[in-house]
Amino acid sequence: MVKITAALALCSLLILSACGNEGQKDQKAVPPAQTNEVHTNHPGSTTTNGTSGVQPGGSVPESSPETNKDQTNNDQTNQGSASKPDSEDQQSGTKAVKVQYRMNKAYDIVPSVEGVSKKVVLLTFDDGPKKAEMINGLIDTLDKHHAKAIFFVNGYRVKQHPELLKLIADRGQTIGNHSWDHIILKNKPEAEVRRQIEDTQQIVKATVGKAPVFFRPPNGAGGDTGKKIAKENGLLYMTWSNGSLDWTMSSKSGGNADKVVSNVLDQLHSGSNILMHELPWTVEALDTLLTKLESKGYTFVDPESIDTQIK
Ligand SMILES: [Zn+2]
Repeated sequence: MVKITAALALCSLLILSACGNEGQKDQKAVPPAQTNEVHTNHPGSTTTNGTSGVQPGGSVPESSPETNKDQTNNDQTNQGSASKPDSEDQQSGTKAVKVQYRMNKAYDIVPSVEGVSKKVVLLTFDDGPKKAEMINGLIDTLDKHHAKAIFFVNGYRVKQHPELLKLIADRGQTIGNHSWDHIILKNKPEAEVRRQIEDTQQIVKATVGKAPVFFRPPNGAGGDTGKKIAKENGLLYMTWSNGSLDWTMSSKSGGNADKVVSNVLDQLHSGSNILMHELPWTVEALDTLLTKLESKGYTFVDPESIDTQIK
């Protein structure tokens, strides 16, 4: 009896031991998957922590023409892995750019010092960041033409895709503040306007390490309060002086890229502050547009060369 019990106990131990080994083997197989999950989750949780209490919580309005166009092109798919910058330690803004330009009352960019060309344009792209393909497409063309631009971003989009904001910064382009929710700020209560502007300042700084110095109100309608709060935050308030009308087009209409080019050329003048958007037809149009601008003798103002202290 004792022998049998002892034998059973021994067997049980062996079985338990074997189970234990099996279990350990299983656990060894698990960590890679868990590690992936942790990595996948990490950026989201970091963003949430980094911006807790920041989001105004408003839903995206659909009232403005710009926003309506945004919605049709709003991509819900996660482009995270494709859009991740090759190197995270490539920081832009380290090279010194001479301040040689300022903005005038008509939102044109004009020389602030002697001896620089006044035949310039400022390139701007609003309402992103949306998709890595479009951002890379725009910046590939900008790089080809040695051009810099301002990407005016919305805070809620940065919260959704912080990696896309990093992509813009890592590729050496300038980021501007375009409010959090893309709502019409004019006639909104001061506290709301302040949240729209300052929360966007905060999330951009938290994401790329530098707060914007340019502010463009949605639909160009910031009102006196928007101007005041922009100034308090060290932001240069601007609308535009040459609208490409790319936001009036849809994917159903044909020839959009040609229309973007002709619309800009029709309004072209020295110092043109050109309003464009992160839209497929604008990505398509950009190479032709920049080539035509260059052939007419225009160069592209580096946003970093604009004096943001002259309001
Ligand atoms: Zn906009």
